[in-house]
Amino acid sequence: MSAAPRHDWTLEEIREIHDAPLLELVFRAASVHRQHHDARAMQVCKLISVKTGACPEDCAYCAQSSRYSTGIAPERLMEKEQVIEIARRAQASGVSRVCLGAAWREVKDNGQFDRVVDMVRGVTDLGLEVCCTLGMLTEPQAKRLEAAGLYAYNHNVDSSAEFYETIITTRTHADRLRTIENVRQTNVTVCSGGIVGLGETVEDRLKMLRTLVAVRPHPESVPINILSRVPGTPLESNEDVPFWEVLRMIATARILMPASDVRLTAGRAKLSPTEQAFCFLAGANSIFSSETEFMLTKAVPSPSYDADAELLRVLGLQARAPFDNPNAPRAAELAALAQR
Ligand code: SAM
Ligand code: SF4
Repeated sequence: MSAAPRHDWTLEEIREIHDAPLLELVFRAASVHRQHHDARAMQVCKLISVKTGACPEDCAYCAQSSRYSTGIAPERLMEKEQVIEIARRAQASGVSRVCLGAAWREVKDNGQFDRVVDMVRGVTDLGLEVCCTLGMLTEPQAKRLEAAGLYAYNHNVDSSAEFYETIITTRTHADRLRTIENVRQTNVTVCSGGIVGLGETVEDRLKMLRTLVAVRPHPESVPINILSRVPGTPLESNEDVPFWEVLRMIATARILMPASDVRLTAGRAKLSPTEQAFCFLAGANSIFSSETEFMLTKAVPSPSYDADAELLRVLGLQARAPFDNPNAPRAAELAALAQR
């Protein structure tokens, strides 16, 4: 029997795990992964940018901030039918979760939000898990999304509280945690993680993990992004993080949050198949895949459905079915809601 997930990890304990000899760390993470998950199952997700660009926030990594000249043309909020069509094609390619992303600072109670709620209902009715990432959210807004069948809400803490201030000045780390708290007042699962490669120290990464493990229950999914350097943003010339450091983050997240899905997200396109296989061995069990070679915007590349199907085949992995996560305690309830 495995021990109950812990929320009180100290920075020293996290550091000890993270700094272990690399192959010991990977072996430990792989063992934890096998105790809590079907190690042959991979969650395949598709991100749809339903509203692109012209975001008032100043996130220093982001192609969609209106503060930087990144060459991303702003697009209006998509029509529901267009989103359903992309979701259908994704489903036919083995995707089990669709994530609807909007370049908003926060959700406003207006016709645009009504449309997103409709999209959530429509994609859920296809039998897919739906995640939204729409910026800050109040508790009543989270409840509206829950009633429409929303399965997950993504809101990344991105880095340590101290380093966050140097990357984003238009909102605080505490604002991020408040939105996560609002989602936790519903049955919607929480997706929250961060980015490596922003220029942070290893200490900042460990602090970020400490913030995530303090969330009760742990976020059901934990994306680990590798910075995609976007020309025109303040971080365009950042150095790449060595792969071994990315691997340490994945393995440490897996050990600290054993029941969560750990998602290898932005930046996966820069990893070789062998490097990705290492990450999957160390407990990453979720990916974003795409029909084009882009993930969020044209600034963030993504492997294609076909390339990923081949990778899963070679590695002997299978795409996980929607709502098939025994570790998300409310998954069954949400699945029932989806069938209503
Ligand atoms: N506006 C919403 C928000 O900020 O929550 C959603 C937009 S976006 C999907 C949210 C996340 O994508 C960010 O928190 C960040 O972790 C990730 N992201 C965005 N641009 C990135 C980049 N260039 N490289 C790596 N990760 C990135
Ligand atoms: Fe806006 Fe989200 Fe990009 Fe920040 S990460 S600039 S909030 S779209």
